[in-house]
Amino acid sequence: MTPPRLPSPRPELRSFTAYGAGRAPATGVRLLANEWPEPNPAGAHITQAELDRIHLNRYPGPAVELRAILSERYGVAPDQLIFGNGSNDVLLSTFLIFGGHGRTTLLFQPTYAMHARLSTIAGGRVANEQVGLPYVLTRQRALEAMARVRPEIVCFCTPNNPTGGLIDEDVILSVAQAYPETLVLVDEAYSDFPGTTVLPALVDHPNVVVSKTFSKVHAAAGLRMGILVVGRELAEAFRAIQFPANVSVVTYALAAKIARDTVSVRRRVELCRTERERVYEALRRVDGIEAFPGEANFLLFRIRGDTAAAAASFAREGVLLRDMSSWTGCEGCLRVSIGTPDENDRFIAALGSVFEPAPAA
Ligand code: PMP
Repeated sequence: MTPPRLPSPRPELRSFTAYGAGRAPATGVRLLANEWPEPNPAGAHITQAELDRIHLNRYPGPAVELRAILSERYGVAPDQLIFGNGSNDVLLSTFLIFGGHGRTTLLFQPTYAMHARLSTIAGGRVANEQVGLPYVLTRQRALEAMARVRPEIVCFCTPNNPTGGLIDEDVILSVAQAYPETLVLVDEAYSDFPGTTVLPALVDHPNVVVSKTFSKVHAAAGLRMGILVVGRELAEAFRAIQFPANVSVVTYALAAKIARDTVSVRRRVELCRTERERVYEALRRVDGIEAFPGEANFLLFRIRGDTAAAAASFAREGVLLRDMSSWTGCEGCLRVSIGTPDENDRFIAALGSVFEPAPAA
């Protein structure tokens, strides 16, 4: 019997498969998704009485409290904040509005794979400029790529995932200055770790938008809270396409509490820095590993052998890493998130058994 004919996705989406990190095995030390490793129970932030004041029968309002806290922190007006269900959501909005059919997004590879996916999902084209490893993006390189591609959107991820290093603010702002009609998307998912941001430049560069997330230093990847900070001139374009009530009242209430917890953020930044240095040194001690220095809560390293086999060996040792070899420019690379000190000990111990097998008895 011939199979029934089925609706078919757009041609450019037919080769898509589910995004990697979600399909990880359930057991083992999770060092594969750049989450914050310590538990962050919702009940530590919100009391029963506060929960009782959240009225689920009503649609969410404009998130006045969260808007007030974050606008003060970011030095912008409350209506310059666009909220979404994780930062991937606000990134998608950006591609839907400024990218899409017949439009091009310029990416400096290797970079966060969702930028290309979301741009394609929005119906746009992607142009890749191969920076490679070590990931050093110069102003000249960026401007030459801009002149060649003439994109409607250009993305900069700083610190960059998966390479971990920063992009000079001067590179980003030179591009923004030279191409005022191109939307310059700066993904700052990890920028709290090094404490950098291009936010103060927004006033003079109205074509720059900056994405932020609660998924990393705020230890709330499960909350799904993403923010896009935009200039006053572009804010209306985002509000115009936003779904009404696109973020839950519960998310808003918890995010406002978590946003106030700056003491925890400072502690995490410090813990991440010292643990990352320890993991980096351990990687450097292994013969045949090239470790790339990073500023975020993960490190990228290149090995000589087969990455899938190495990732499987780590998994047998109870440590889950991300095999990055399928990402453009990351051939031979694995990425390890920085875990708790105990988890990092597990990783460092596993490094010994995966790369320096004990001599045969
Ligand atoms: N940007 C970058 C660079 C990321 O690495 C991630 C998550 N890994 C995100 C954005 C998306 O994060 P979320 O949707 O959880 O905010």
